[in-house]
Amino acid sequence: MTLLPIALVLGAIEMEPDAGLFGIQDVPSCMIQDLHVGAHHGLVASEKGDDAVWAVWSDEGTAHLQRLLDCTTSSADDTEGCGLYDQHEGRHTFELYDPQRAAAEAIVAMMPLTQKKPAD
Ligand SMILES: [Zn+2]
Ligand SMILES: [Zn+2]
Repeated sequence: MTLLPIALVLGAIEMEPDAGLFGIQDVPSCMIQDLHVGAHHGLVASEKGDDAVWAVWSDEGTAHLQRLLDCTTSSADDTEGCGLYDQHEGRHTFELYDPQRAAAEAIVAMMPLTQKKPAD
C-alpha cells in the first residue's frame, strides 16, 4: 500500500478525466501476489475500455503512474476475470487465495436455498 503524492493524484485525473476526484484510488494497495520481486502495482483508476491507470512504486519510495492494458485471462470456468494488467508477474487475481472471499463463500454455502424476504 502506498499514499500517492498529490501530483500523482492530479496526474491520474488528467489521465482518466471521467473518473473524477472520487474515482481515483489515492491509497492503492499492491495487487500482485505477496513476495513478488518487481515493482508494486496498485489500481488507481479504471473507468472504461481495456486499460487502466496503475500506480507503480518501489520499496525505495519512488512512484509513477502508468496506463496498462488489462489482463485478459479468466478462470477455467470463465466466471472470474483477472483484476491485474497484461503481462503481470505472479498469479492471476482469481488464483490468489482471498481470506475475505473464502469466508464470504463459506457463509453463502451455509445459507438455505430460499431466503425469506425481509418484512417491509
Ligand atoms: Zn507488491
Ligand atoms: Zn492476470
